[in-house]
Amino acid sequence: QCAAVCPTGAITIKQDIDRVWDAIFDPTKHVVVQIAPAVRVAIGEEFGLKAGDNVIGKLVTALKRIGFDEVFDTTLGADLTVMEEANEFLERFEKSENLPLFTSCCPAWVRYVEMNKPELLPHISSCKSPMEMFAAVLKEHYKSIQDTLKKEAIVVAIMPCTAKKYEAAREEFLRDNVPDVDYVITTQELSTMIKQSGLIFRELENNATDMPFGMGSGAGVIFGATGGVAEAVIRRCYSKKTSATLKDLEFCGVRGMSALKEATVLINNHEIKIAVVHGLHNAQLLLEEIESGNVQYDLVEVMACPGGCIGGAGQPFGLANKKVKRADGLYSADRLSQVKSSEENPMVLSLYDGLLKDKAHSLLHVNYTDR
Ligand code: SF4
Repeated sequence: QCAAVCPTGAITIKQDIDRVWDAIFDPTKHVVVQIAPAVRVAIGEEFGLKAGDNVIGKLVTALKRIGFDEVFDTTLGADLTVMEEANEFLERFEKSENLPLFTSCCPAWVRYVEMNKPELLPHISSCKSPMEMFAAVLKEHYKSIQDTLKKEAIVVAIMPCTAKKYEAAREEFLRDNVPDVDYVITTQELSTMIKQSGLIFRELENNATDMPFGMGSGAGVIFGATGGVAEAVIRRCYSKKTSATLKDLEFCGVRGMSALKEATVLINNHEIKIAVVHGLHNAQLLLEEIESGNVQYDLVEVMACPGGCIGGAGQPFGLANKKVKRADGLYSADRLSQVKSSEENPMVLSLYDGLLKDKAHSLLHVNYTDR
């Protein structure tokens, strides 16, 4: 109730940080945390490091010192999104049904469609966002080991925006009346927690995320930059439908900070037309063009924030040049990653063979309805 009347949202933020601290200090709770791709290339700026520096190793150490029991990477959730969204896209493309397919990772964009363009809801991907896919998997995993764990599993997500708090609280993501993501903390809130802990962030050593959920691919990590979701999904479609690997997609036009990016990819002699927009105003302009029939696409990625999640409102304040550097940081992580594509991630394969067997649809998909 307080949050509803607080014009700055400061009360909500304070409450979320306090709730996370309470959970960490509660011996009856097993508190795990997932880190979104965009966070790792921005949070260092709060501690005197450069925009784009990938500080995932220091972040893991900080979160462990703060008291989280296990630290995971949302990139694995992004890999699951790639797998599911590529299947969904190819199915629709082959049937010419509900095209273009609009991506669904950004809750502010989904909300925009619900409020302003409900007739487009059948075009929105049914895939949950990486945060929600991963949280559903985590909750299912801890349920299966409840007898040995003997603690309540609490899932915290470190995200680049407050829209993710709204997403976590949506009724579609409650199971047995419990949200899959218990608390969302923004990048800036986490930097407050790190400062409250008295840690000297820039001097922390690097550590790896925890297994078995700590492994993500390069395709998953680029989700944080505008164009990243479309690129990752097309990489997957390409490898699924051809024996070749799509080496030159990064040069085909979905990267960069232009308001609208367009690309055409040839898969088995079929042209797939892709559009990528960031910023809701740009999305609105694109929708007008699509509706008037001036343009036609098969796959459209929309992110509400300029630059995508790297430019989220919960990130440290950054002008355009910082966003370019953050995006470069993610593309460089992709280049350096040993596993490039989501389907090559061994954890993804073992999830589909195990925990997700017969449950992939119920755990990884959602139905948004006209509000
Ligand atoms: Fe949040 Fe912005 Fe990313 Fe959408 S684009 S999920 S609002 S940070």
